Amino acid sequence: MKLLKKILCGLSAAAILAALSGCSGGDDTKLIMATNAEFSPYEYHEGDAIVGIDVDIATAIAKEMGKELVVEDMAFDSIIAAVTSGKADIGVAGMTVDPDRLKSVNFSDPYTTATQVIIVSEGSIVATPDDLKGKKVGVQLGTTGDQYASDIEGASIERYNKGFEAVQALTQGKIDAVIIDNEPAKVFVSQSEGLKILDEEFTTEEYAIAIAKENTQLLNDVNAALAKLKESGELQAIIDKYISAE
Ligand code: GLN
Repeated sequence: MKLLKKILCGLSAAAILAALSGCSGGDDTKLIMATNAEFSPYEYHEGDAIVGIDVDIATAIAKEMGKELVVEDMAFDSIIAAVTSGKADIGVAGMTVDPDRLKSVNFSDPYTTATQVIIVSEGSIVATPDDLKGKKVGVQLGTTGDQYASDIEGASIERYNKGFEAVQALTQGKIDAVIIDNEPAKVFVSQSEGLKILDEEFTTEEYAIAIAKENTQLLNDVNAALAKLKESGELQAIIDKYISAE
């Protein structure tokens, strides 16, 4: 079926009508979510399934809208393009609302806040963000962590496709620090030996759902569903299911 869809979606002119019925834009029983399932606890693989906070939130939103959620896993820096091209309806990937992205997509109301933190080896001389000057800093390609790292004086930036790969490079001593979102940072540090998160955070950010600019109806529907989930306490319950309170 997937292959068939690919073929249909790849055809032009004469097949456009047929193709539309198989592509996301033409099927309004499904809500297609673009994500990058390498970002626990927001989205990650569990066996064959993709699970996490964002998947549960998007499932609840789809349910409010009377649709079925379909999750499409892709590179983080492909998500905005998937949304603007109509391959996906929503981008949900622990994605920070930021001015650059707002030039190409709309964002829903935020559903949670997060911070960018610094992971270092336990014995590291890096103790504050200032100490990153001139250091080798690892980030995930195309993330806000990547943006902040690029502003550090004299630092050389190593960009990885997955946050996990950046953390691995850190444990192997190839880089001096990783800048990444706080909750995934906690998961990575708990899974590796000899790493710690610095107390001083880089920034506070808001996560929201990316939607194509022309899709204002969907933006309204998603915001209405989010408001309901906030009010009923379901949103908080989803977050609490994955993140234990400190
Ligand atoms: N919050 C960061 C961003 O939006 C990282 C998101 C991610 O890696 N999934 O750029």
